[in-house]
Amino acid sequence: MRRKTKLIHGGITGDEQTGAVSVPIYQVSTYKQDGVGQHKGYEYSRTGNPTRYALEELIKDIEGGVAGFAFGSGMAAITSVLMLYKSGDHIIFTDDVYGGTYRLVSNVLDRFNLEVSFVDTSNGEAIKEAIQPNTKAIYVETPTNPLLKITDLTETAEIAKEHDLTFIVDNTFSTPYWQNPIDFGADIVLHSATKYLGGHSDVVAGLVVVNSDQLAKDVHFVLNSAGAVLGPQDSWLLMRGIKTLGVRMEEIEANTKSFLSFLETHPQVSTIYYPGLTSHAGHDTHVKQARGGGGMISFDVGSAENADKLLRNLRYFTLAESLGAVESLISVPAKMTHASIPRERRAELGITDGLVRVSIGLEDVEDLKEDFEQALRG
Ligand SMILES: *Cc1c(COP(=O)(O)O)cnc(C)c1O
Repeated sequence: MRRKTKLIHGGITGDEQTGAVSVPIYQVSTYKQDGVGQHKGYEYSRTGNPTRYALEELIKDIEGGVAGFAFGSGMAAITSVLMLYKSGDHIIFTDDVYGGTYRLVSNVLDRFNLEVSFVDTSNGEAIKEAIQPNTKAIYVETPTNPLLKITDLTETAEIAKEHDLTFIVDNTFSTPYWQNPIDFGADIVLHSATKYLGGHSDVVAGLVVVNSDQLAKDVHFVLNSAGAVLGPQDSWLLMRGIKTLGVRMEEIEANTKSFLSFLETHPQVSTIYYPGLTSHAGHDTHVKQARGGGGMISFDVGSAENADKLLRNLRYFTLAESLGAVESLISVPAKMTHASIPRERRAELGITDGLVRVSIGLEDVEDLKEDFEQALRG
């Protein structure tokens, strides 16, 4: 089955009993047993729910793994995966990992003595140097937010294998339509399905796909024990979103390329970060492991004043956290997602006051360009 077909025909489709083409929403918490322990595969909806299971089978198929799991948010998925580890274990993280993940490991899981190192995982040598006797996993994002740094999945998988570490990838930015980390040796793939997979800014959800039966057992054990599961309504919404992932990503890609060529010639725009550009530091690695550049672009408009002017005057770009929606979104990392990082450290990282990040949506790209043009003129 090819990629676009899998989005429609992967997982469990429709309903055998009624012929319904869409999977029903099983709004149910418990299931009748014919005798103790005699049931039709479902006992209680925390453990398993047919609508959620249809979604889990779908994400498993489109990421090419052994099993999928659906959680109440991306952070719930990440928390549950990190609960595979125990006090005294050490995990290596990409240094510019998603802010929520940083907060979770630095301010919550630190209470349980989980040891972490934040490393520039775009540099394989840096990963190797960070490995300790108690290291258990490498956790990577590629591309990252907001500078879209790229980590080599094949190389990292080799390092992980050599040291018997679990290789975890947060694949939210690329989506399974463009990038399938399991094909390059990842063991666990995570998604904030709130973003591109849902795609319509109307559902918060997290998904996990694993590449082995043992990991499937372990993740389901945590899912069932900790119970951060996704409800049937949201599971259904997510399946509805995933059906159009292919057309959305293709159109977003086309819009993004067109918007990039506009940005490249704009006198007020400098330093564009986009993995699909040959000038991007991680470009060569990115094109080896991803089929598209995605819809996230960061660039510098010169100053905080210019960024302010943009935000005040834009009509079609919504100022908002989040990404991957049908509507174009804009954010200013220095004032929003990365505000808690000291200014000097931000400057070192390249997160200047004039850096803006956009998530290109499905509007007519000519309107997006005109909107930017007028907003920068002020
Ligand atoms: C948004 C996001 C998360 C967190 O997901 P939620 O659904 O908001 O809990 C994790 N990783 C990345 C890369 C994200 O963009």
